[in-house]
Formats: sequence, C-alpha cells, structure tokens
Amino acid sequence: MTSLVVTSLSKNFGAVRAVDNVSFSIAGGEFLALIGPNGAGKSTCFNMINGQLAPDGGTVLFDGRGIAGLPPREICRRGIARTFQVAATFGSMTVAENVQMALIAHTREIYRWWRRAASYHRPRALDLLRQVGMQDAADRPCSELAYGDVKRVELAIALASDPQLLLMDEPTAGMAPGERNDLIRLVKALVIERGVSVLFTEHSMDVVFAFADRIVVMARGRIIADGDAKSVRGDPLVQQAYFGSGRTFERAGGVS
Ligand code: ADP
Ligand code: MG
Repeated sequence: MTSLVVTSLSKNFGAVRAVDNVSFSIAGGEFLALIGPNGAGKSTCFNMINGQLAPDGGTVLFDGRGIAGLPPREICRRGIARTFQVAATFGSMTVAENVQMALIAHTREIYRWWRRAASYHRPRALDLLRQVGMQDAADRPCSELAYGDVKRVELAIALASDPQLLLMDEPTAGMAPGERNDLIRLVKALVIERGVSVLFTEHSMDVVFAFADRIVVMARGRIIADGDAKSVRGDPLVQQAYFGSGRTFERAGGVS
C-alpha cells in the first residue's frame, strides 16, 4: 500500500529553487531516508509535506487524498506526525506531562476541572514512554534529561497522535555515533511493530545505509537518486554531490 505520493513538488525562496520538481513516494510501513548535502532542500520538503509551508507547485497525496497547502493541524489529524530538529519539549514540565499534553492536544479533549491534570492520560503516556524506554524518567523534569533522552521523549510525543507516517528531520543531530544508532534502531523497531511509515533525514551515512529500506538523494533542490543502499552508495551522481570527484563513501568513512 502506498501511503504518500509527492509529485512535481516545488518551492522557491526568491531566486533560490529550494525544491525543484521533486517526485517520490513512500509505501506503507517503509523506512525511507531523504539525504543530501546541506541546502539540498530536505527540510523544505518536510515543511511542505507537514503543512508548515505551502508549495508553489505540485501535489502531495496521502492515502489518495490531496494534502498540499492544508494547515499543519489538519495534516496531523489525517495521520502525519513530525519530530522537530530542535528539542521541542517543555523543560519545566515532567516527561510524563509532556506526553500527556500531546495526548490531550490529539484527542482535543476539553479539560474537566474535576479531573486532576496530573492524572489525565497518564496510563497511555506511561505506555508510550515504556515503548521508547523512558518510563523510569516519567516524573523527572524534561530540563534534567540528557540530550539523547529528550529525543526519545520527542519520539513518544510524536507517537501520541497515533500517526501512519512519521517525519523526522535530523532526529539524531548533535548525538554521538552510538546514540544515533540506538535512536534509529528504536524508531525502526517501533515502526515495524506499528506498521508506521517513516521519512527521515540523517547525516551519518553509516546509519542511513544500515537502517533505511530505501534512500532518496537530493542535491540543489532536485532528486538525483532513489533506490536501496547498494545502488545509492555506488551512484556516481551521489558521490559527486557529496564529495566532488575522487572520493567515495567507503573511503570517506561517512560524512556529517
Ligand atoms: P536542507 O534541509 O537540505 O539542508 P533546506 O530545505 O533547509 O535544505 O534549504 C534549501 C535551500 O533553501 C537553501 O538554499 C536554503 O538557504 C533555502 N531556504 C530554506 N528556507 C528558507 C527560507 N525560509 N527563506 C529563504 N531561503 C530558504
Ligand atoms: Mg535541513
């Protein structure tokens, strides 16, 4: 089953063609990496898919229905969630409260005064935290967490809306290599379990080649390759985009 179909998507910022006639699709349950050098147009693609930016041209179909230009809230309601590049949790609230807030926002429930806020959606929040390995930190303020743990909480927050497609723009930015592997392994295990599709960007080629089902490569606003790790790794256009000529992923030992 195809979940997302992007066709001829375009966005200009003044004279910059940030996204230029981009087409790709994501199948249900697929773990798809969108990679490319800085400025390639990856984040702009994400922002158009999740509704933060209206495209200048092209279409985005999600389960057969057009979503381009809809507001982010409506797109989220239809089953597309995203995590943010910058840690977006409220530091003064506890880990569990952050997830509870996301659950409240998703279900659009009106707070009832006779229920204690602290208990609202708590069992479901604890279950999500268990899934990301953060249940033991439920009652700690988010501000006390290590960076990698904040990322796990962000994942729980994104899963609170019960998405069919999860967009993750540089989820491992700022992490040590071991932490990157752990987070992406966790995401992959969760999406296999839930049958969720994931579109993610990631700078570590080791991580991309190890975990992605398929890889779409962008450079200067365009797609230059789309395939599995083996075909993308050996693609001359891809190597040219990353290294100029003369170097390869193998000899460079990954890029960041
Ligand atoms: P990536 O995420 O692949 O690094 P971006 O999508 O952030 O790339 O950026 C693509 C191009 O669009 C870059 O040249 C960037 O400078 C430009 N760009 C992105 N966002 C804006 C904006 N809000 N205003 C002007 N230019 C932008
Ligand atoms: Mg980006």
